[in-house]
Amino acid sequence: MSEELERHKLQTFLEELKRKSGRGTELISLYIPAGRPLSEVMDVLRSEYSAASNIKDRTTRHHVLDALTAVMQRLKLFKATPPNGLVIFAGYVAGDVPGDEKLEVYVLEPPQRLKVWLYRCDSRFYTEILEDMVAVKEAYGLIVLDAGEAAFGVLRGKSLEVVKEIESGVPRKHRAGGQSARRFERIIEQLTHEFYKRVGEYANKIFLSMPDLKGIIIGGPGPAKEEFLKGDYLHYQLKEKVLGVFDVGYSGEAGIYELVNRASELLKDVQYVRERDAMNEFLYNLARDTGLAVYGEAEVRKALEAGVVRKLLISEALRWGKARYACKACGAEGWAPVEEGGVVRCQACGSPNVDVLERVSVIEELGKLAESSGAEVVIVSTETGEGRELLRVFGGVAAILRYRWQPAAPAQ
Ligand SMILES: [Zn+2]
Repeated sequence: MSEELERHKLQTFLEELKRKSGRGTELISLYIPAGRPLSEVMDVLRSEYSAASNIKDRTTRHHVLDALTAVMQRLKLFKATPPNGLVIFAGYVAGDVPGDEKLEVYVLEPPQRLKVWLYRCDSRFYTEILEDMVAVKEAYGLIVLDAGEAAFGVLRGKSLEVVKEIESGVPRKHRAGGQSARRFERIIEQLTHEFYKRVGEYANKIFLSMPDLKGIIIGGPGPAKEEFLKGDYLHYQLKEKVLGVFDVGYSGEAGIYELVNRASELLKDVQYVRERDAMNEFLYNLARDTGLAVYGEAEVRKALEAGVVRKLLISEALRWGKARYACKACGAEGWAPVEEGGVVRCQACGSPNVDVLERVSVIEELGKLAESSGAEVVIVSTETGEGRELLRVFGGVAAILRYRWQPAAPAQ
């Protein structure tokens, strides 16, 4: 699976895990760093086990001891600590009714090398370390300025935020001539210098403290951006990170959005730009009726199965999928569709009393199908207008085809 799909899968899993809570302090989170011998981990768990035997509340005690036993059983399946370390969550998760707690155990290998050790028994699962791993670490600083105003933006992953706008206060026009005109010009020069200094100070304040700043992009409608960059207004560490200077038609907030458009070649790997470009390409093909744009889960699935999809666009807000289950009422096993956050029902007898063996989200399923035929997968957030349109108008699934294609008509 591609990194993007893996990341999405883990993010969704962590979201679900965060919603779970225990009846008491009885949910275990265990983070085993890379290279830590499992025998040492087992020693810690054994001593936690004997400590937990002293818990006064009978139910909590049983729950913690059961969870610890489950963790130790899972650990025994490993010969050694996996290369990136190991994370285990285990505990009785509270249901809707008191008394219907169920023991749940999750074992996963982290996507990056785990460096910290953590054992925690709490009323919730501790997910922060993994969340930090999947968080987008790269950010770009954006500055747009002209003689009248300046705006500062931060582009990170799928979000673009305008963080500050300032006015220059420099007067624009004057009609006087001669001596007073020259004096006026000197005043304007001085005021402009002061303004650039302020722009530099804000840039330093906003961007210098960002440890994950990858680059800075500057834009504006006039010569102010070049003057600003040539002068000594920007901290040298930020100056070194300037990736490009672009002409844009607007200043202020609108200029920030335009700047991201102009610099899209530089920023093409940033998720926000990838999503927006993919959506624009899809909408372009749809509007021109090129026959290359298809949408809706059923249509896109057919195209994916035929291997004709070049780019798959799928909304990250889609939460439905399917689950493999074993029915406790009638013994049937199979796959059932799952609605968002919904219960899994046996397809044979309709009972919700089933063991869920495996869940596959529609994103994961279609994403894998796309990757197996060499298509690019773009998971589109709902943070942009285009992203919300994908969800609302196109059912959250769209594709751009390699060539015009029609599914074969079913045999009569
Ligand atoms: Zn059944």
